[in-house]
Amino acid sequence: MKPKEPDSRYVFATYPICRACGSANIKATRGAKDVGEGVRERPSKCHDCGQLLTVVLEPSKDYA
Ligand SMILES: [Zn+2]
Repeated sequence: MKPKEPDSRYVFATYPICRACGSANIKATRGAKDVGEGVRERPSKCHDCGQLLTVVLEPSKDYA
């Protein structure tokens, strides 16, 4: 049976890139925290250059 809305299965997200070296090899470090309005901050570190980063996760605006 064919689903009525096949596109509803696809959820698009971007992945974080290191601001210092452009690497996508980023690992979360300590615990994430909610900063309100569905936004989450995740302390992270670039595995390639060691840059400390804060990855900010925002809710997708696709679902309205
Ligand atoms: Zn880096």
